Amino acid sequence: MTTRPAVPLPRWLRAAIVALVCLLPGLAAAQELTPIRVSEHAWYVLGDAGMASGANRGFNSNAGFVVTADSVIVIDALGTPPLGEALLAAIRRITDKPVRRVILTHYHADHFYGLPAFKAAGAEVWAQRAGQDYFTSGEAAARLAQRRQDLFPWVDEHTRLVEPDRWLDGDSRFEDGGVHFRIDVVGPAHSPEDLTISVDEDGVVFCGDLLFAGRIPFVGSADSRRWLAAIDRLAARRPKILVTGHGRHSTDAAADLTLTRDYLLYLREQMGKAVDEMQPFDEAYARTDWQRFSGLPAFEAANRINAYGTYLLLERESLAR
Ligand SMILES: [Zn+2]
Repeated sequence: MTTRPAVPLPRWLRAAIVALVCLLPGLAAAQELTPIRVSEHAWYVLGDAGMASGANRGFNSNAGFVVTADSVIVIDALGTPPLGEALLAAIRRITDKPVRRVILTHYHADHFYGLPAFKAAGAEVWAQRAGQDYFTSGEAAARLAQRRQDLFPWVDEHTRLVEPDRWLDGDSRFEDGGVHFRIDVVGPAHSPEDLTISVDEDGVVFCGDLLFAGRIPFVGSADSRRWLAAIDRLAARRPKILVTGHGRHSTDAAADLTLTRDYLLYLREQMGKAVDEMQPFDEAYARTDWQRFSGLPAFEAANRINAYGTYLLLERESLAR
């Protein structure tokens, strides 16, 4: 995803979109999310394959929750404020226990714009400290401007970005209602601030965007070298169930991590060759055979920017050698 300069929609067009949304019952109705249970305590909702769009109302990522004897621990909050409300409503259909905490796997727009509903319900938000840079660098503001355009009216001028109540400085553990949680700092990998959250009793790991199941990952400016190392460490832990940031959960971590791993390796191999030969990016991109991956969801939207980010990364890596 690139950050496009925001060109405000004309007022009449915004009004027309709002009117259209209100007139079409299917669009106006709150989205009802159907949680999938993966273990005794853990559930998640499954977003659409592909990128966030008006067609999927920004529902292109997953969010999880764990119901303990005392409360609910939520992992990620989806990509718009209405989706956060829909997630909370889905949790309420399963349990009336208080939502104590939301832990963010990382600060990408499709995983945290739903936080206001959880803050209003009294939950505290945790994230890894490296995510602070997201707010100070201007990236957060630029992305919000883009989302207000592309996901209007679900993201609009009233949408506010929620910063955590607690920034985590390293791995941590906690217990809640007899369930033991482990938080591992695994970034920088897909993002600077990646976390994984494990539920010991269930053998479940919520791994955020370290794994994109069945689709092309969003790589952008990620550090793919460290991402590959993080994937290997995750696979070595042999989780029974992996709940990913995008795509279906996995009961065979080794096999499912392979697609993301192979894609990252291929990007690095092809773009690395181009950098070594000092071939311009456009030529290298056109020359590369993408057939292995071109049939997968999100290829059209993500592959070129992924390749370009990798090309720039490998240029930096080669200068540092
Ligand atoms: Zn992400």
